[in-house]
Amino acid sequence: MLDEVVDHGVTPRRLVLRDALDDRELTHLDLAHLAHRYGAPYVVVHRSDLHAVLLRACRAAGVDLVTGTAVTDVEHGPDHAVAVSAHRCDTGRIVLAADGTASRLRRLLSDDEPVSSAYVAYRGTLPLAEHPDTTDLALDDVVVHVGPGCHLVQYPLRRGEVLNQVAVFRSPGALAGHEDWGTPDELDAAFAATCATVRAALPNLWRDRRWRMYDREPIGTWVRGRLALTGDAAHPMLQYLAQGACQAIEDAACLAEQADAHPDWDAALAAYAATRTVRTAHVQRTARQWGELWHCDGLFRATRNALLSDRDPADYRYIDWLHGP
Ligand SMILES: Cc1cc2nc3c(=O)[nH]c(=O)nc-3n(C[C@H](O)[C@H](O)[C@H](O)COP(=O)(O)OP(=O)(O)OC[C@H]3O[C@@H](n4cnc5c(N)ncnc54)[C@H](O)[C@@H]3O)c2cc1C
Repeated sequence: MLDEVVDHGVTPRRLVLRDALDDRELTHLDLAHLAHRYGAPYVVVHRSDLHAVLLRACRAAGVDLVTGTAVTDVEHGPDHAVAVSAHRCDTGRIVLAADGTASRLRRLLSDDEPVSSAYVAYRGTLPLAEHPDTTDLALDDVVVHVGPGCHLVQYPLRRGEVLNQVAVFRSPGALAGHEDWGTPDELDAAFAATCATVRAALPNLWRDRRWRMYDREPIGTWVRGRLALTGDAAHPMLQYLAQGACQAIEDAACLAEQADAHPDWDAALAAYAATRTVRTAHVQRTARQWGELWHCDGLFRATRNALLSDRDPADYRYIDWLHGP
């Protein structure tokens, strides 16, 4: 499927980190070199384009996709499991719970709850042909402006036809315990002190929808009988490393490998969990730290900027663990 994903997406030139207050470039990664180093392209792809590629591949493999059906429970047999919903029961050798951050099935294994980061995201995609005012932007780069309590990410999608923009900020309403937190007024206030490039992006965000950012503490137990967790149900993380869906895809690759390597599903699931819980816990924790680095202020911001500006763009010591084999 990789060729199809690359064809629908964009392989950007650089990943650039800039300061959101003064627009200064702090550091960058050469993504063509990254591809060479890690043996795979760095590609950005629209969520629905990725879904379409995956869906086509599933259908071609004979997968039956049933929508509008909430799985409420899982029943266990000695060598099978049953996904139970209101109007049907589906029996398989395993049940994989991929039901997201608020996972109902995770409750069968753990009583932990989603953790609010008090940050919220606004998004918007912009057809570039209709916006000649965007010609100043670096349209073949992924650009992240990092600022005190806020950041803006911009990158091209769909072979460069649209620009994706995500603005994220810490909500005073969330910190004060208000129910209606992360409002458009808070968005404007959070970015009021940022540079002109960042503020120019705000009018093009959708204001009628927002995404409140939650993760969870890592857990070591992903398997019970023939039920296993995967994706955000297993390891929901803050999006600062852009890894949530990537880690879900790694889960799938790992499970396929373990299923090939072991004679029975019990052993395969145990090996899958042993491999993936350690790795994804590291990604979850690093994503939180990355957010703190992006959103710091005052002396911390000055120190961060000095360190990043001194960084050799060819220094990969902080990302080898993530992208390397
Ligand atoms: C602002 C933002 C930016 C992000 N950026 C990136 C990025 O750049 N790169 C990246 O890799 N990741 C990114 N992510 C993370 C990514 O979106 C998630 O990690 C990914 O969607 C997880 O996929 P999933 O299938 O595990 O869960 P989800 O996408 O949450 O899907 C879960 C599905 O399960 C269904 N469901 C729920 N309960 C039940 C039930 N009881 N029965 C049946 N079905 C059920 C839901 O309807 C939903 O369709 C970002 C997330 C956000 C919010």
